[in-house]
Amino acid sequence: MKCKITCIPGDGIGPEIVAEAKKVLCKVAEKYGHEMQFKDILMGGASIDVHGVPLTDEAIEDCKNADAVLMGSIGGNTSTSPWYKLPPERRPEAGLLKLRKALNLFANLRPAYLYEELAAACPLKEEISKAGFDMMIMRELTGGLYFGERKTVEENGVRKAIDTLTYDENEIRRIAIKGFEIARKRRNKVTSVDKANVLDSSRLWRAVVNEVAKDYPDVTLEHMLVDNCAMQLVKDPAQFDVILTENMFGDILSDEASMVTGSIGMLSSASLNDSKFGLYEPSHGSAPDIAGMDIANPIATILSASMMLRYSFNLDKEADAIDQAVKKVLEDGIRTVDIMSEGMKQVGCKEMGDRIVERI
Ligand code: NAD
Repeated sequence: MKCKITCIPGDGIGPEIVAEAKKVLCKVAEKYGHEMQFKDILMGGASIDVHGVPLTDEAIEDCKNADAVLMGSIGGNTSTSPWYKLPPERRPEAGLLKLRKALNLFANLRPAYLYEELAAACPLKEEISKAGFDMMIMRELTGGLYFGERKTVEENGVRKAIDTLTYDENEIRRIAIKGFEIARKRRNKVTSVDKANVLDSSRLWRAVVNEVAKDYPDVTLEHMLVDNCAMQLVKDPAQFDVILTENMFGDILSDEASMVTGSIGMLSSASLNDSKFGLYEPSHGSAPDIAGMDIANPIATILSASMMLRYSFNLDKEADAIDQAVKKVLEDGIRTVDIMSEGMKQVGCKEMGDRIVERI
């Protein structure tokens, strides 16, 4: 298969970690007989420095013309970088928001997986963490409270703020379909999270998810209230496979789920539209404090590349090979500094990439 991938190395550690992910993809291509075609584009601070804007129209076209986009991270030190003296619409992050909109990326996927070897970093009690967990948070990304009408008014000398939470059934249906499809690639279970005891938008959410579920009889569906889900994530995270939820609930729950893994350098993510196209990036930022030092952990980006193979190219076997190589490298005691512990061998960003490549 020919895979046309636009890469956004970005800022800070971005170029270092994307280089390692590319190395891993090239190894997979060599082993399984595929062709990787990469094109690098500028976004964020790197684009501001060259073009004066965080994302050009040509760069958006390059993303649209690819099968998938692999991104490092963008942004600099928000207190000291001159990029943050620019008006908000010309700062690095504006490029990412513009790109998400241009590509209509409405579904955000964030896996939370506890590696046995890194269990010590998990803040949960051992009696809970020993069961392990492997879940995927699927968050609606373009609707709900963050995109509804909002205003602040003053009535009789009292300030009042109004935010509106709106979803139509089409927005709910398309993300629900994604959720069930992803569950089919995993353990066939969807937990749909809402606040249907209070909110109309949640009652519609629940009704539409139930309708979609009829097309997926092989997938078990359960509904859970968001407050209960927040508790269950720390009480019994092993129960979850795919958590399907709206924008604001997903924002909060995905951060909670990633915290319980304890290792920011290990967390991948994907944003998808209603075709096979996706934008794949680590959950962490550009870590300007360690940029250029060859100490960043490239695993989150490498696992994002694995998600890309699985969800945009349907190359499950190849994605499994990357996931297994990452597990093996950890089993073999190889660590970057952020996940280092006593008795392990510390390596830099490049060497971590090389060690993973060796295990594919
Ligand atoms: P950050 O995630 O970049 O860093 C937080 C801490 O984690 C830092 O100490 C950093 O050194 C460490 N860290 C992060 N990734 C690591 C890795 N792969 N290996 C080892 N250590 C790692 O968050 P921040 O410092 O709040 O933000 C820095 C910049 O990144 C800001 O400009 C912010 O806006 C941007 N940001 C971008 C994205 C994105 O591109 N999607 C996401 C979040 C933050």
